Amino acid sequence: MQLDINPDLAEMRPTVRRFVTEQLEPMALQIDALGEVPAQVLGALQAQGYLGMRLPANLGGAEADLSTYCLVMEELGRSHRVFTLMLDASSGLTPIAIARFGTEEQKARYVPGLADGSQRASFGLTEPDAGSDAAALRTRAKKVEGGWSISGMKHYISGAHRADVVMVLAVTDPALKARGGITAFLVDRGTPGMEITRTDKTIGSDPIQISEIRFEDCVVGDAAVLGAVGQGFAIAMGSLVSGRMGVSAACIGTADRLLEIAIDYAKTRTTFGQPLSERQAIQWMLADSATELALARSLAYETLRRIDAGEDTGSAPSMVKLFCSEMVGRIADRAVQILGGAGLIRGVHVERFYRDVRHYRIGEGSSEIQRMLIARDILR
Ligand SMILES: Cc1cc2nc3c(=O)[nH]c(=O)nc-3n(C[C@H](O)[C@H](O)[C@H](O)COP(=O)(O)OP(=O)(O)OC[C@H]3O[C@@H](n4cnc5c(N)ncnc54)[C@H](O)[C@@H]3O)c2cc1C
Repeated sequence: MQLDINPDLAEMRPTVRRFVTEQLEPMALQIDALGEVPAQVLGALQAQGYLGMRLPANLGGAEADLSTYCLVMEELGRSHRVFTLMLDASSGLTPIAIARFGTEEQKARYVPGLADGSQRASFGLTEPDAGSDAAALRTRAKKVEGGWSISGMKHYISGAHRADVVMVLAVTDPALKARGGITAFLVDRGTPGMEITRTDKTIGSDPIQISEIRFEDCVVGDAAVLGAVGQGFAIAMGSLVSGRMGVSAACIGTADRLLEIAIDYAKTRTTFGQPLSERQAIQWMLADSATELALARSLAYETLRRIDAGEDTGSAPSMVKLFCSEMVGRIADRAVQILGGAGLIRGVHVERFYRDVRHYRIGEGSSEIQRMLIARDILR
C-alpha cells in the first residue's frame, strides 16, 4: 500500500525514488568501507535541488513545505542514513533557524552557503549535564563590551568537527533560564576560545560522528546573537518539531526498504523444501511489519498535512516521532530474523540499517521524552 499526502507528492515520488536508486544507492554500500561519503553525493543532491530545499528562494533554497521535504527524506531513508543527515544539515535545525530568525546580514552570510552545501552548520544544544533536560544548560554567555563571552561545554554535537558555524545555546540570565534566559549564538569555526576537544563514532555508519566542544572565554560580537537575547530556548524547541517529522520520515523510508528486502528474501529462500514465505511464522512477522508501517505513514502524513495547513498539532509530532522510531526498530529486528545469517553479515543493507536505526529512539528527543510531552499534552 502506498499512501501519499496529496496528488502532487504522489507524482513527485517516482522521480525522487529513481534518483536515489540510480544515483545514490550504488554509493550506499561503499560508505562504511570508505569511512566517508563520496564527494559526488553532495553534488548529486545539489543538482537535484534537494539541498536547502526548505530555505527561502531568494537565499538559494526552494521554499518546499514540510511534506515535500519529508517525502525526499523518506526516499533518502530507503538508501542510507547519511544521506538523510546531509539533507538535514542543509535544511534542518540550524539553517531553518537562521533563515527564520536571522538578521539580513546573518541570512546573507550563512544561508546561501548552507543551501548549496558549500558550508556546514551544527546545532549545539546538548551538554554533559543537559541532554533530555535541555533547560539545564550550564554554558554561560556573559555580556562584555560589544559582544558576549561564552564559556562551557557541549557534547554529542553532530558534524561539529567539520562545521563552519555552530548555533550555540547558552545561558544569558541564570535567574530566567528556559523562560527567557537562554540565547542562541552563531559561532564561526576558528573563533578563539572555541575548540573541538573530541570526536566519537557512534553505533551506526562510520561517517556519522559527534563532537565535544569547549568554550573558554570565547568572545563573539553582538551580531552573533540569533533572534533576540533570551529567545534561544524557544528558537531551539520550535526547530525540533520539523526535526522530529524529518526523522520520522527517514524511519518510514528505512522501514519500507527493510520490509521490501525481507519480503524478497522470504520468497526466494527455501528451507525444508518450501520458501520461507509459505511459513506462518514468517508471514506473521511480515504482516506485523506491514501493518505498523501503514499506521506510521497514516499518522505521519496526516500530521504533516495539518502542520503545512498551519493547524495547531499539539503533541502529534511527538506521537509520530515516538511511533516511527520504535516501529523501524521492530521492523529492522524482524528483517534480521527473516534473513538469518544473511542479515548479520557486516556491510549488507539489513545489518547496516539495524545499527543505524538505533539512533532514532535517542536523538531529537528520546522515546521517554516524547511520551512525557504527549502525557503533558493529554493531561492538561
Ligand atoms: C548520534 C547522536 C547525534 C546527536 N546530535 C546532536 C546535535 O547535533 N546537537 C545536539 O544538541 N544534541 C545532539 N545529540 C544529543 C541528543 O539530543 C541527546 O543524546 C538526547 O537528547 C538524550 O540526552 P542524553 O544522551 O544526555 O540522555 P539523558 O538525558 O541522560 O537520558 C538517558 C536516558 O534516560 C531517559 N530519561 C531522561 N529523563 C527522563 C525522564 N524524566 N523520565 C524518563 N526517562 C528519562 C532518556 O530517555 C534516556 O533513555 C545527539 C545524540 C546522538 C546519540
